[in-house]
Amino acid sequence: VITMQVEQTGGIADCIFCKIAAGEIPTRKVYEDDAVLAFHDVNPKAEVHFLLIPKQHVVSLAHCSADDEAMLGQLMLLVPRLAAEQGLSNGFKTAINTGRGGGQEVFHLHVHVYACRIDWPCY
Ligand code: C5P
Repeated sequence: VITMQVEQTGGIADCIFCKIAAGEIPTRKVYEDDAVLAFHDVNPKAEVHFLLIPKQHVVSLAHCSADDEAMLGQLMLLVPRLAAEQGLSNGFKTAINTGRGGGQEVFHLHVHVYACRIDWPCY
């Protein structure tokens, strides 16, 4: 059994993406429905770089269970649709950082979507 330790600093009350989902912190919105929000990353790694989050607080991919299947499926199916709407017609990179060892800094599940370029490589 592999156990992954994923840190969570503070509680849901301190979660910046919960505040964004609640509309308490303004963002450049890409998409919104009852369960999901997509917004442009405040510190983009590419010309177009947006994040998809569940509105419900989920710490990371490692914290998902069978109960989250529909939410995860919804996020994944939205990725190509929103990428196309944002003009990423030549393809895009999708990243889900999980845990400190996976580069996760905000402990509310999010999917990065951005395009790579020769002068702006994926990393
Ligand atoms: O996957 P990771 O947790 O490292 O990524 C968090 C991302 O959230 C960063 O790309 C950061 O720029 C973004 N962010 C944001 N708005 C905030 C805080 C962080 O877009 N208010």
